[in-house]
Amino acid sequence: MSELEGKVAVVTGGSRGIGRAIACELGAAGAAVAVVARSIEGAQATVDLLEGKGAAWTCDVTDAARCTELISEVQEELGPVDILVNNAGITRDNILVRLKDEDWETVLETNLRGAFNTTRAVARGMMKRRSGRIVNIASVVGLTGNRGQANYAASKAGLVGFSKSVAQELAARGVLVNVVAPGFIETDMTAQLPEEARDELFGRIPLGRFGAPEDVAGAVRFLAGPAATYITGQVLVVDGGMVM
Ligand code: NAP
Repeated sequence: MSELEGKVAVVTGGSRGIGRAIACELGAAGAAVAVVARSIEGAQATVDLLEGKGAAWTCDVTDAARCTELISEVQEELGPVDILVNNAGITRDNILVRLKDEDWETVLETNLRGAFNTTRAVARGMMKRRSGRIVNIASVVGLTGNRGQANYAASKAGLVGFSKSVAQELAARGVLVNVVAPGFIETDMTAQLPEEARDELFGRIPLGRFGAPEDVAGAVRFLAGPAATYITGQVLVVDGGMVM
């Protein structure tokens, strides 16, 4: 039997990139996966790749009421949620003095408020069932900071503090909450980076390659699975050794 057979997982931002790889990895491990994104086409394209069961949902994670609705719909169709992966995220990069209010708000609303919305929506059920795994996708820049990403780094650092707090609250109920902090992973999000910046970053990666979405997905599978029953409130950095 596969390690996540019979489990139901929700993956936000599952329409492409890291979220798609996570959905496929959890599906390959036997979970039924609810793939969530704002675009139904993207989410459905991921579902089409799943080896196991799964279905696509549209949900903007910044909409708290919709997140609550989403979790009820998933429960009705696939069963109670065992695993939540908060992966939906965006960037709006600029240096501090050029950051617009909207750049700040949209990034914080999506990356941090979004994770709060979905986590709160699954928490009660997981607590009642005395089991559950929540994996939040932060970033190494939430640990180190990064020029031109004050909004993004703040949202990811916030996600780490949020995760550790929730881990402490839910531990006694058997719900484990952890963070995966990727480094540079090749997706649409990083495709726009200028050649010069890519070269500079590349030089700082001891393992000598950029990450693939599957590198992150493997870490999520571990934290969601039976090998990680005694780990909570931790940040697992997946960055080829860039930040040690
Ligand atoms: P991506 O390719 O741009 O994908 C982002 C995903 O988030 C898409 O599926 C998008 O789907 C979804 N999304 C965006 N806003 C949303 C919203 N309001 N509600 C629901 N879904 C939303 O990005 P990625 O590189 O795979 O990144 C995934 C996560 O990893 C993000 O949290 C990112 O911050 C983090 N991360 C990435 C890297 C990297 O190097 N790529 C490094 C560190 C951390 P729709 O547009 O269809 O909604």
